[in-house]
Amino acid sequence: MSLHGKSILAGHLAGPSSATFQAISPLTGQPLEPTFHQGTPSDVDAALQAAENAFQIYSALSAQKRAEFLEKIAEEILALGDELLQRTHLETGLPLERLTGERGRTMGQLRLFAEVIREGSWIDARIDTALPDRQPLPRPDLRRMMLPLGPVVVFGASNFPLAFSVAGGDTASALAAGCPVVVKGHPAHPGASELVAGAITKAAAACGLPAGVFSLIHGTTPEVGLALAKHPAARAVGFTGSHRAGRALFDAANSRPEPIPVFAEMSSLNPLIILPGALAERGAQIAEGLKTSVTMGVGQFCTKPGLIFAIAGEDFQKFIPLLQKAFQAAVPATMLHGGICASYHQGLKHLESITGVQKAAASEVEPAIDKTQAEAVLFITDSATFRKESALHEELFGPQTLLVTATDEADLLALIQSLNGQLTATVHGTTTDLAGAGAVFAALQQKAGRLVVNGFPTGVEVSPAMQHGGPYPATTDARFTSVGSAAIQRWARPVCFQNFPATALPEDLQDANPRGVMRLLNGQLTRAAV
Ligand code: NAP
Repeated sequence: MSLHGKSILAGHLAGPSSATFQAISPLTGQPLEPTFHQGTPSDVDAALQAAENAFQIYSALSAQKRAEFLEKIAEEILALGDELLQRTHLETGLPLERLTGERGRTMGQLRLFAEVIREGSWIDARIDTALPDRQPLPRPDLRRMMLPLGPVVVFGASNFPLAFSVAGGDTASALAAGCPVVVKGHPAHPGASELVAGAITKAAAACGLPAGVFSLIHGTTPEVGLALAKHPAARAVGFTGSHRAGRALFDAANSRPEPIPVFAEMSSLNPLIILPGALAERGAQIAEGLKTSVTMGVGQFCTKPGLIFAIAGEDFQKFIPLLQKAFQAAVPATMLHGGICASYHQGLKHLESITGVQKAAASEVEPAIDKTQAEAVLFITDSATFRKESALHEELFGPQTLLVTATDEADLLALIQSLNGQLTATVHGTTTDLAGAGAVFAALQQKAGRLVVNGFPTGVEVSPAMQHGGPYPATTDARFTSVGSAAIQRWARPVCFQNFPATALPEDLQDANPRGVMRLLNGQLTRAAV
């Protein structure tokens, strides 16, 4: 299957553009065929107009029809076979084994959202039946449920080229909610994006859906992304990437005449706190686990533990060489693209230049620059330096972490209080440590969306109870998650129908409850009819 290099606008290929680009393989530093055409302002307009036109029909489809579409997308992605894995490997440097797992996760997410909408309780239906005889005033009949927002713009993430890109979690959850999707492809993997977009387009045609339900636009400049976020037909934005880009999109969406929500997942250091008992009992095990978690995916996970807090003392002194040894043994590996690798090395240099920060260990094997490789690096600092230096509070994407020494328990708490918002926070402790850690947990709860005990934050389960979102700057809206079935809530808003005739009500609010969805009926959760 050869790649055409064009944006896909509601089932049609966009025309050629004067601005073109090629993917650069991080494995070789060489450009890959073919040439891709950057989306133009008229492409942006065509995609969003088509999405707006498709919205009325698509959002009115039954949950069963939308679920079949999601399952068909999963089927078409699998049918792309090895070609998808090989192309993604060339464009991202990610090993085939990892990409095979990620493709499984991508299909799993699509099928999960199919199940979520078939089951139906995500719509949060509430019915307060009329009380005509209530004194002093009668109560009207009130029925409320979540309804889709409209066309959603999704930015493919570089670090999950399948599971958080064209048909990733944002797209799957938005399509499930009933929203057409326009994807801004990540410029680092345009070939993989085109293949997956082709699969979605095929699935839409096979399910007889309006073609405007999905479009892919290529771009290598902020203009394309900003035009998408500012287009009047866009109703929400989903984004995963840098703080700089996420914030630019958030600001652009808020400065529109009619602002729209931007759900951006941007930057997190994922602090990991080692309490004294755990340090004494299993320092070696924690050091090894930390090295694995920090270097997993070459440190390019939003949940990488980039900060470690522990209290000074004899056990801490024994822990440092264990961690140093583990980092020295870590083998350099290829990062996703040249830009990320350059930012990583720039960030390392900056950390080295900060007074009070020491480079304590690095991979013994030199990274191969022509293969876009990065070495693992461990830094150490004290709590006063950490609190003072703002650069130490910023995410550095790559296999690096910073060990911060607290002088005592009060200092540890002050360190936690100095943190920005985080996706995750982890505590290692013995039973006794954890029993006395109430203040630590209370402080962390204010800072992070997911708290982990005696584990590592990398490896995010896609399930109903998952929370992948935290206070700013981890995300722009800590009330929502971008991973797990609750992610669908971002793309819907509640609407209340007062005294509506039965025939004009959405099916799931009708007395008979034909699908048997869970509803809060006069204060009681039930699947029963009214
Ligand atoms: P990025 O630079 O944030 O780019 C992500 C997407 O946003 C791309 O489609 C990019 O396309 C677009 N974009 C960039 N700047 C923009 C702007 N000013 N206005 C509108 N759109 C813009 O992310 P990246 O290339 O994946 O990696 C760069 C850094 O992002 C990494 O070093 C890392 O720090 C961070 N990152 C974080 C996560 C996370 O999960 N927290 C994930 C990935 C990356 P164009 O280039 O075409 O504008």
